[in-house]
Amino acid sequence: MGFDGENSIEVHNLSVAYNRVPVLWDVDFELPQGQIVGIVGPNGSGKSTLLKAIMGIIPKSSGYSKIFGKDLNKLRERVAYIPQRESIDWNFPATVTDVVAMGRYKKGKLFKRLSDIDKQLVADAIEKVKLTEFKDRQIAQLSGGQQQRVFIARALAQGADLYIMDEPFIGVDMTTEKNILEILFKMKEKGKTVVIVHHDLQTVFEYFDYLVMMNTRLVAHGPLKQVMTNENLQATYGGQLDLLTKLQYLFKDKQFPLREKGYDDK
Ligand code: ADP
Ligand code: MG
Repeated sequence: MGFDGENSIEVHNLSVAYNRVPVLWDVDFELPQGQIVGIVGPNGSGKSTLLKAIMGIIPKSSGYSKIFGKDLNKLRERVAYIPQRESIDWNFPATVTDVVAMGRYKKGKLFKRLSDIDKQLVADAIEKVKLTEFKDRQIAQLSGGQQQRVFIARALAQGADLYIMDEPFIGVDMTTEKNILEILFKMKEKGKTVVIVHHDLQTVFEYFDYLVMMNTRLVAHGPLKQVMTNENLQATYGGQLDLLTKLQYLFKDKQFPLREKGYDDK
């Protein structure tokens, strides 16, 4: 269930610096609800930093962000954030069920026992990501794709309205990627909003409705077909021409209309 008429995320004049070096500069955008949104940009362009600033994990140098029109602290339980895989301590001693159950603990009630309903929601979430046979296994003993699915299950168990995921498909096999995607599409059908940092430009057409393109600064945001222009790709990826050449073929394959004149003569 969403919040009528509000943006899922809005970010205004957001800047972030590490040791006074700016890595995000005056970023400003609003994202719709009920869509799958991709955030793309080259390595080091500030994508993870953007998510962490929105989630209040790192301080903003200036600007602010809102979730469903409100301060994040007012609706934290409605937001599930799945960080980049390598930032999670996979040696932490916990089973699949332990981690997924974390999605059911409410703030301030950490040591309360889970109800039977909670336990059922946890089991359902594990089933949805096809990990039931591994439910008692330590997370350290799972493959990359399975580990990623554990965190998706935790987010599902939480029952959030907004899912924010940082590179969920890294270190994941193709079957798992498709499996996760199916789950995300189903969530979208239920009106959930999914925001994904993604680096594989070849799949953006299949995956996303809406795109944020960035490189330290915001380059563009909007419905996928509107913002995937040659000009925006150049501004986002700069001199990475190999990549752009490859993409031109991809556009032709998909008969994707690019708005710039003369694009096909190059
Ligand atoms: P992306 O996710 O797009 O690859 P990041 O947001 O991780 O980019 O990083 C953006 C920039 O900030 C990079 O230049 C990176 O080296 C730098 N950076 C990220 N985290 C830190 C940190 N904790 N301390 C200092 N610099 C950082
Ligand atoms: Mg990153």
